[in-house]
Amino acid sequence: MSASELSAPASVKWPFQTTTSWRTLPTPFWSDCSPAGAAAPELVVFNTPLCEALNLPLADMPRDVLARWLSGSDLPDTCQPLAQAYAGHQFGGFTMLGDGRAHLLAEFEGPDGIRRDLQLKGSGRTPYSRGGDGRAALGPMLREFVISEAMAALGIPTSRSLAVLRTGETLWRDGPLPGAVLTRIAASHLRVGTFEYAAALRDRSALEALLTYAVQRHDPDLADVPEPGARVLAWLNRVAERQIDLILHWLRVGFIHGVMNTDNTFISGETLDYGPCAFLDEFVPNKVFSSIDRHGRYGFENQKRIILWNLARLAEAVLPLLDEDPKDALDRARTALKNWDTRLNARWLSMMRGKLGLDTERPEDESLIKDLLAWMHRYEADYTLTFRALADDAAERLPEARHPKVQDWIRRWRARLAEEGPVTAARFEAMQAVNPARIPRNHQVEAALTSAEAGHMAPLRTLLAALAEPYRDDPAYTAFAQPPTPDERVVRTFCGT
Ligand code: AMP
Ligand code: MG
Repeated sequence: MSASELSAPASVKWPFQTTTSWRTLPTPFWSDCSPAGAAAPELVVFNTPLCEALNLPLADMPRDVLARWLSGSDLPDTCQPLAQAYAGHQFGGFTMLGDGRAHLLAEFEGPDGIRRDLQLKGSGRTPYSRGGDGRAALGPMLREFVISEAMAALGIPTSRSLAVLRTGETLWRDGPLPGAVLTRIAASHLRVGTFEYAAALRDRSALEALLTYAVQRHDPDLADVPEPGARVLAWLNRVAERQIDLILHWLRVGFIHGVMNTDNTFISGETLDYGPCAFLDEFVPNKVFSSIDRHGRYGFENQKRIILWNLARLAEAVLPLLDEDPKDALDRARTALKNWDTRLNARWLSMMRGKLGLDTERPEDESLIKDLLAWMHRYEADYTLTFRALADDAAERLPEARHPKVQDWIRRWRARLAEEGPVTAARFEAMQAVNPARIPRNHQVEAALTSAEAGHMAPLRTLLAALAEPYRDDPAYTAFAQPPTPDERVVRTFCGT
């Protein structure tokens, strides 16, 4: 046997470039720092399909090498981890923040030409940890894995989860919990809060550098807009468009983010931060699950107002770049905000029309939609099952259809459908494509996580499989379409930080 055959296979080299583009930003935006590493890292879940879809050169790595890398225990010199600085409005109050328990390891380009970040979460303390231990628990990291992957399968822009590892360490929250690290993939980790951070530095060149970086990374075509203020405005409109799209997706599937702080709002328009999020079972307009959202700020329907609030914070942060004259800058920002508001409401109506199978616009549609939501609320109708029944041409079989009010509504809806022409199977198929049969139901997620924490992974794998094609009827997964029984109901969710 020759010496070369004894050395580690070539495939075991760290497959990413040494530097990330984040390092081209001025130093206030990041700090060099290494993950703490783990005592006994062990892969719990690894997302092979994601690896393949993104052409990530990790799927063939030996498991022990992956476990050491993705726990941050044994990173090669060719990896230069960093923590990002940012700020944010948390429940309305401004705070300087930063990655307190996350490390950016690498940036890579996928087959779609999009550059993405590979980041560890729960990987130890950083200069931004404040009083925190920098750690994450297994339950919340698996929860992020399940829900982010379910969101992706629902066709909703989101950060992705590549892997969850046990660290072999115990952390203390209310009691002892198994420690874990999540590998997160995102189009970038640029947040509204990163711009607020730049604005708070009161350093125009840092703010300009950040904006140039954001444009380059997510909207490179805008770099050609000659007038700087017009470029900033065009960029703001792009970010707003992506966020409006995102929130409408959330409302379409009954998703409640739960902690829409500006540090959790991505410039890329992807969903970020799966702390206390939850899905609606029965429809309650301003439903809140999160234990820390005491005043319903981030309730279901309020997400529409909050995204505009968050976008206003973004516009405020870049005001000095919108126009040399502060008054003109403010005018530009105000006009933009008004347009976003109008656009969001119009787009909400068309999203809801889509759920009801309507292609054309009629003035009476708004009352048709509002009356539907009113009876769904009144009779505590399940959000997912109700829309899916309409999409399955089975409205009359809904349990609520015993109420004359509901029968009336169904008649009105059917008449409205018929006005658009023949009500064909294709029209119901189009409705099925926007009204999922299955969502990650809170009680099912909790049950799978409880098993996983006890070391039984089978229920979690079945749940992941049930959520992989959520718009397709599948008799094998009928149980996953069911709402909770009164005993199974989850009433509160927790951040798990
Ligand atoms: P989040 O509520 O997850 O968006 O986190 C808000 C801020 O708290 C971020 O700066 C996090 O990095 C930080 N943070 C959350 N948990 C921890 C922890 N266990 N240790 C240190 N920082 C944390
Ligand atoms: Mg966060």
